[in-house]
Amino acid sequence: MSMPSMVDSDAVVIGAGPVGLFQVFQLGLLGLKAHLIDVLPAVGGQCVALYPDKPIYDVPGVPLCTGRELAQLLLAQARPFLPLDPVSGGCDQIHLGQLVSQIEAEADGRFVVETDRGLRLRARAVFVAAGAGAFVPRTLNLPALDGAVNVHYHLDDATVASLSGQHVVISGGGDEALGAVLALAALPADRRPHAVTLLHRRDQFQAEQELDAQVRSLLASQQVSLVVGMPTDAVVQDGRVTALSVLGPDSVARDVPLDHLLVRQGMSPKLGPLSQWGLSLERKQVSVSAATFESSTPGIYAVGDINTYPGKKRLLLCGFHEATLAAHAAAAALNPEAPQHLLYTTTSPLLHQRLGVHQGH
Ligand SMILES: Cc1cc2nc3c(=O)[nH]c(=O)nc-3n(C[C@H](O)[C@H](O)[C@H](O)COP(=O)(O)OP(=O)(O)OC[C@H]3O[C@@H](n4cnc5c(N)ncnc54)[C@H](O)[C@@H]3O)c2cc1C
Repeated sequence: MSMPSMVDSDAVVIGAGPVGLFQVFQLGLLGLKAHLIDVLPAVGGQCVALYPDKPIYDVPGVPLCTGRELAQLLLAQARPFLPLDPVSGGCDQIHLGQLVSQIEAEADGRFVVETDRGLRLRARAVFVAAGAGAFVPRTLNLPALDGAVNVHYHLDDATVASLSGQHVVISGGGDEALGAVLALAALPADRRPHAVTLLHRRDQFQAEQELDAQVRSLLASQQVSLVVGMPTDAVVQDGRVTALSVLGPDSVARDVPLDHLLVRQGMSPKLGPLSQWGLSLERKQVSVSAATFESSTPGIYAVGDINTYPGKKRLLLCGFHEATLAAHAAAAALNPEAPQHLLYTTTSPLLHQRLGVHQGH
């Protein structure tokens, strides 16, 4: 769906990690509409980017769930306030694959939040839920690859579709690379790549034992090939990489031809543009009040792993608490005349109406 050049909202939440998702929910309960932005192609932040299949045991009331499951639960909980468009099937309040580059204050106290893809959102309150920073994939550090259209960093549905019947080289030796090998091997035959080559600097992987064992079995049955070495250059024709030059352990350089290159070498968080937003920082964290979670700029709040205050703990539970208090502080600041009664989701007809549930259920 194409977006107009400027979209107005009550709030913008920067970062769709667990805390950003819960922030949208808490704002929604208080009647504030929020847009959510993340540079990653999926919601969930660290839970999905760093430990999707690992168990979490300390979310209150949830004895056990994986990182991916928690992200899905939080998204489902926030869904009343992030409605799906019946035609497109998407949500026009969620903006993925976009890096927030700039926040500017307007004369009337509103903020304009701008992304690297030209999206501009104007809001009365901004919530920075940026975690350890924007997750960006680690690259191969080969300038020749810049802008090549057949180099991918994420295994989203569109990428998977483009790999069908192709020779795919997957670079990396950790969970992400091995997980991608297994995901492609598990596709139905008509959607699978023609050939998959795993490229890693050595013949040892740094992945979970089970992933390692499954990929070893695919290598043994020659369903996947392994090339050991360091990529040192790339052959690029008409904007497409056609081969990597790989220096092997025997110090011989060999060309590895390919149709698509999938770089799965992990993610690293970059504070990046956040340091330019004029917020008071302490050791790369945004300093906030522990009562309101407001930053040094009134109207900009910081919640979750990105903030710091006396006693801060980088735990999910703490981020959820911060998002709750920040939402209440923002609601009070935006509507100073309105009485700020604490309402319960169990009993409040107003909250039931906002949640779209029938009273009494
Ligand atoms: C391996 C591991 C295990 C963990 N286990 C537990 C556990 O068992 N229990 C627990 O309580 N905690 C655990 N944690 C910590 C927990 O994951 C974090 O506290 C939590 O993810 C913080 O959530 P967040 O939303 O603040 O940040 P994040 O999850 O880091 O999400 C921030 C999001 O903001 C995005 N972003 C940042 N800057 C920008 C920008 N400029 N533009 C667009 N997007 C941007 C990032 O891409 C990211 O998706 C664990 C962490 C790790 C690494």
